[in-house]
Amino acid sequence: MVLYAADWVLPVEGAPIPFGGVAVADGRITAVGPADELEGEVRRFPDAAIVPGFVNAHTHLEYAVYAGFGDGLPFGPWLHTHIERKARIAWDEYLAIARLGAAESLASGVTTIGDASFSGAAAVAADDLGLGAVVYLEIFGTDTARVEELRRRLHELEGTVDGRVSLGVSPHAPYSVSPEVYSAVYDLGLPISTHLAESDDERDYLLSGKGPIAEVSEVEPPRTTSVRHLAEQGLLRTGVVAAHCVKVDAEEIELLAAHDVAVAHCPRSNALLGCGIAPVRELLDAGVRVGLGTDSPASTPSFDMFEEMRAATYAARARAERPDALSASEALELATLGSARVLGLEDETGSLAAGKRADLAVVSLAGSPYLPWEDPTVAVVFGGSPERVELTLVEGEQRYEKGGFRWHELRRSAAEARGRMLATEAPPAPKT
Ligand SMILES: [Zn+2]
Repeated sequence: MVLYAADWVLPVEGAPIPFGGVAVADGRITAVGPADELEGEVRRFPDAAIVPGFVNAHTHLEYAVYAGFGDGLPFGPWLHTHIERKARIAWDEYLAIARLGAAESLASGVTTIGDASFSGAAAVAADDLGLGAVVYLEIFGTDTARVEELRRRLHELEGTVDGRVSLGVSPHAPYSVSPEVYSAVYDLGLPISTHLAESDDERDYLLSGKGPIAEVSEVEPPRTTSVRHLAEQGLLRTGVVAAHCVKVDAEEIELLAAHDVAVAHCPRSNALLGCGIAPVRELLDAGVRVGLGTDSPASTPSFDMFEEMRAATYAARARAERPDALSASEALELATLGSARVLGLEDETGSLAAGKRADLAVVSLAGSPYLPWEDPTVAVVFGGSPERVELTLVEGEQRYEKGGFRWHELRRSAAEARGRMLATEAPPAPKT
């Protein structure tokens, strides 16, 4: 038995514990409380807080090296840039990139992800590096015959991952996937993740068939908004994770709540793509399960859940013009237990409680303006960063320790893959 002890333990379920400890044995948390009341071989972290491992409710590990691609472009052309560059690489590159994404997640204190995966490489990468994951294999288009192909790829992947990684399916979005394909994918009976109500471009296309998405979409516009469209088709239900939900009105929020659809809130991605600010306070007040997602470096600079918690807080308070629109402890809950609820993993992870997986991160606040301590939750949410993560445990296994995991080869391979995506055709030979 090992006892991880720090100035503070933030269990998320329950009040912060000063001089707290988390006892771990066989991959599980056995006890949480004041450290001097607990048993175990002590590992003590001064000037630090122990938090549940972050759960990133919506990401794409396979886009870990896409930083800056298409920055500043409108949503439609931005999407087009990614589709075109993605076509230049193959499985080995996907895997190299996804492995870097898994490493960077662990180094940021993330212990579980919900990943929408184009190639399936995210599942293999998460499994390789010991990151917990629900990997939703993506499908696009209007051809229901592709669902058979999806089923075959799922079957192949099942054999390569263990219980820490589970599989789901991701019909990409209502503007890129027909309702027939959505239905056929739902019939597989697996967890679902989809992009929903993300942008005005999406809304314009679905309502009118016009705008930049018209150039890339083969889906018949339903002449209604995305949430209403899925509701009318019977496609809103428990087990569906909707990423974004920026462009939703009060009636659509009610539809999401009534059908128990969970929302992955991605405030940085929504801000950087100029999509807007999701009504996170309204979603929470309506009883919708909400978690936080970084999306990926295709739209945000990093898999950094600290930045995501801050962005969620800034955006919610600015939108409501109230400092109490989202508290630091609500932001921490969104990033941990909230996201675990979104992924249906709240009995296993997302808080520090006896019986759950020993998924945790140790965050040092040494040398920060938040010490000496006043409010440890405020300190972690506003003063934390990946550089301050000392240790990340997944199911009790040390998957990252500061200074101990440099991943040189993994970084080189991923950078080479980025180079191949940026490479343009060789110039024609000069005439002699
Ligand atoms: Zn996404």
